[in-house]
Amino acid sequence: MSTPADTSITTKSLLVRGYEVVIGFETHAQLATQSKIFSRAATAFGAEPNTQACAVDLALPGTLPVMNKGAVECAIKLGLALGSTIAPRSIFARKNYFYPDLPKGYQISQFEIPVVQGGSVEFYLGDEKKSVRLVRAHLEEDAGKSLHEDFIGQTGIDLNRAGTPLLEIVTEPDMRSTAEAVAYARELHKIVTWIGICDGNMQEGSFRCDANVSVRKPGAPLGTRREIKNLNSFKFMQQAIDFEIRWQIDEIEDGRAIQQATVLFNPDTGETRAMRSKEDAADYRYFPDPDLPPLVVAPEWVQQVRAAMTELPRVMAARFITAYDLSDYDASALTQSREVASYFEAAAKACGQAKLVGNWIMGEISRRLNTAEQDISACPVKPAQLAQLIGRIHDGTISNNAARQVMDALWADPQSGVDAVIEAKGLRQMNDSSALEKIVDAVLAANPKNVAEYRGGNAKALNALVGQIMKGSQGKANPQQVNEVLRQKLG
Ligand code: ADP
Ligand code: MG
Repeated sequence: MSTPADTSITTKSLLVRGYEVVIGFETHAQLATQSKIFSRAATAFGAEPNTQACAVDLALPGTLPVMNKGAVECAIKLGLALGSTIAPRSIFARKNYFYPDLPKGYQISQFEIPVVQGGSVEFYLGDEKKSVRLVRAHLEEDAGKSLHEDFIGQTGIDLNRAGTPLLEIVTEPDMRSTAEAVAYARELHKIVTWIGICDGNMQEGSFRCDANVSVRKPGAPLGTRREIKNLNSFKFMQQAIDFEIRWQIDEIEDGRAIQQATVLFNPDTGETRAMRSKEDAADYRYFPDPDLPPLVVAPEWVQQVRAAMTELPRVMAARFITAYDLSDYDASALTQSREVASYFEAAAKACGQAKLVGNWIMGEISRRLNTAEQDISACPVKPAQLAQLIGRIHDGTISNNAARQVMDALWADPQSGVDAVIEAKGLRQMNDSSALEKIVDAVLAANPKNVAEYRGGNAKALNALVGQIMKGSQGKANPQQVNEVLRQKLG
């Protein structure tokens, strides 16, 4: 669990050694359908090789593709979530290339008229609001996979993945730093998982990002880009882009021109390395696939999908701002996932202290979950318990400090109740003013020097007295109340 963006990253000064960085993303989101995009074979991950490839996936002669309606609905959902235009009529095309894992010799994709056009992804980078424009998102099929069996020195082909539905989401070259690129990818990941069109599992390849990176002197035309393929973790993404930026600037400074290329990131060396020179669209000899009619999406269909969709993160954040009086930043942090949002809402409703609930989730709870590398679904303290704890801070029963101790105890043993822990650990604040006055009197009597100093005009001498009183109360006195009583007694 994390806040929307790492605030430690400076976003103000964007130039790197005098160069402006330009980044555009192409992301392949594997759609969470049961069956493939043009066949009835299953898409489940991890099956024995070649057990989930049917005649269509194998491209046997005479087979024909049939569009999976569920995959189209996923595309519509994404378009609605990002404010895009859903094309009423889009076209499937053949992208021709030869590779052993591509039985047909072409990939069915969308070229000239994609189903999703325009829109944007909005997110915070620190406290700065960013908007990255989308060019398009198009439906396509995945290829199979080469398995390099080193122990027999041979390569096998697994066609289970062939025909798995993908949505390729393409941005304008709008990002200006590694931090912004990673924040964009995190936001897009949040959205596709939120609306349920992709499981977001990056290790399994369900969400693969290609980062197009170039650098230029401020005001110059766009530089030549290199495309870093298949970044499958946010950490590698950051390392790869950082390395690529440094490498490109070094090349230019050494007087060499950047060649357009496709590169791979090697996590072991932390370096990017050219894989092949970049193909142009013309190399793929795209043409409309005669086996598939145009994809027609009627407005009624879009309406139906819209009506069945869950509240979107952006909409929910806006509601949190008005309903709970949260800042933009807090609302964005608390809608980082559906789980966090519903945890927040349950606790806020139960205790009526939305701001405090938000602070506790983003602070104490988030910190503990991060340490344990867990997300909020694994949080041992449930929203009702957090609400109860915050209620006890709010009604003055315990201090913030004591509340943190209660949280520790609840974390270790969620069965122990809030009030039971407060009593067992003796954390109740001293709200009984006569008991407090006794302590204050004793401390004043024992520290005549401090009293004289304070009366002589040294305001700092009060701190020493407050410290003594807090100690005398074993930390249970309410500091605010201590100050009041002291000032009153000292005139
Ligand atoms: P292609 O069709 O060759 O893949 P596109 O025009 O579709 O090329 O661009 C692919 C991606 O590269 C897009 O995300 C786009 O924003 C990005 N991009 C294009 N030009 C640049 C550039 N000069 N620097 C960085 N990214 C770029
Ligand atoms: Mg492209």
